[in-house]
Amino acid sequence: MASAAMPYPSTPAERDRWVVARRSGFPRDPGLDPWKAGGWCVETERAASGSMEAGLAVFLTNRECPWRCLMCDLWRHALATTVPVGAIPAQIDGALREAGDTGALRWIKLYNAGSFFDRAAIPVADHGVIAGQCRPFDRVVVECHPSLVGPRVGAFRRLLRPGTRLEVALGLETVHPGVLERLNKRVTPEGFARAVAWLRENDCDVRAFVLVKPPFMDAAMALEWAARSIDFAFGCGVDVVTLIPTRFGNGALEALGESGGFAPPSIAMLEAAMVHGLRSGRGRVFADLWDLERFADGGTGHGVARERLERMNRTQTVVAA
Ligand code: SF4
Repeated sequence: MASAAMPYPSTPAERDRWVVARRSGFPRDPGLDPWKAGGWCVETERAASGSMEAGLAVFLTNRECPWRCLMCDLWRHALATTVPVGAIPAQIDGALREAGDTGALRWIKLYNAGSFFDRAAIPVADHGVIAGQCRPFDRVVVECHPSLVGPRVGAFRRLLRPGTRLEVALGLETVHPGVLERLNKRVTPEGFARAVAWLRENDCDVRAFVLVKPPFMDAAMALEWAARSIDFAFGCGVDVVTLIPTRFGNGALEALGESGGFAPPSIAMLEAAMVHGLRSGRGRVFADLWDLERFADGGTGHGVARERLERMNRTQTVVAA
């Protein structure tokens, strides 16, 4: 068995094994049920129109993603096997029922800890039923690995009610070529750009996930590469960039942290990246604020920083420190 101190490998297959070998001590969620969504919440998000629109985010339970990205902990909320046909619609039904009156909600996010268009995660046989469940909403947001963007996305979009927009969220992560390669996502900036172009040509909206301070970046280079990645994503034609501060929590990052290959960003860096994105004026920029207090400079000041970032998310204007 590989030791935690073993150097990070240079080939994708070896990296897969390295990442998986470090999962012990980081168990899957034991309560996962193929017939019940992992959770749901009502959120409000600034729309392209400038208005604040409420929507329902549903966290679907399904088979884990086949990629083994170095920074990913989503497998902890996923099953080892494909769910039966009918299970995903049952999960969405359950979330809609528990949410109660959804009449004021404009959008629905169906996040599945992987790719919505991975047929082993979401059975294609369920796409029609899911599209029907999305009829009340003006916008459906799903996640997808750039390499799975293609005809299956277009087929699902055509199942949606006319007038409902499909928004596909793609992980760009970073445009630093050496770091992106080592993240083991098996995507390149060019592949990301092709996926965005395809989605644009096929009448879909696009959001990009950009990591703030991925592994193998020190603080001095991390802000510059976050900024470059934001600029690249907007240059490709995305509507929204969501900034994700890279977090511990999957075993692999903890192992890298021990050898000096990773340390999380500061909240100040997340704010600086957000400010860069907002000042560029090329689209909406959101900061992911989950578990913000865990970051190194969180401490007692995290409440103030959170409030400032929440205001920037809401207003899409720079809020001075
Ligand atoms: S493609 Fe996305 S969900 Fe899959 S392992 Fe990578 S980051 Fe995680």
